[in-house]
Amino acid sequence: MDEVDFYDYEALLDKAYEELPENVKHHTSRFEVPAAIVNIEGNKTLIENFKDIADALNRDPNHLLKFILREVATAGTLEGRRVVLQGRFTPYLIANKMKKYIKEYVICPVCGSPDTKILKKGRFHFLKCEACGAETPIAHL
Ligand SMILES: [Zn+2]
Repeated sequence: MDEVDFYDYEALLDKAYEELPENVKHHTSRFEVPAAIVNIEGNKTLIENFKDIADALNRDPNHLLKFILREVATAGTLEGRRVVLQGRFTPYLIANKMKKYIKEYVICPVCGSPDTKILKKGRFHFLKCEACGAETPIAHL
């Protein structure tokens, strides 16, 4: 079993953290995302703790899955806590796609807080920040 350590996420957060105003810094200090547990079986890649990651990000697992599938250009299904992807993908690649998701769909680009949610207004989607109140347009998946 391969495990990716989650310091990659930490590096991303450190950068955001440095740019934060003092009054919102506590928001990042309790942001912990589990490392993806990735196993390859035959021609399939399993992300064993997929739902835990989505929960930590406070995102719908189906939204995260849709992003990952598009990024790695394959098919896959959510099966309980885990995801089964068609094809073989390295833990390193999966970790990078998770980081990309966090950057685009979780962390507020204005203040760096991960305390956000996705809002829909008509056809448009926004990242609504609970810390600073910013609403940033995001691409629809
Ligand atoms: Zn913000």
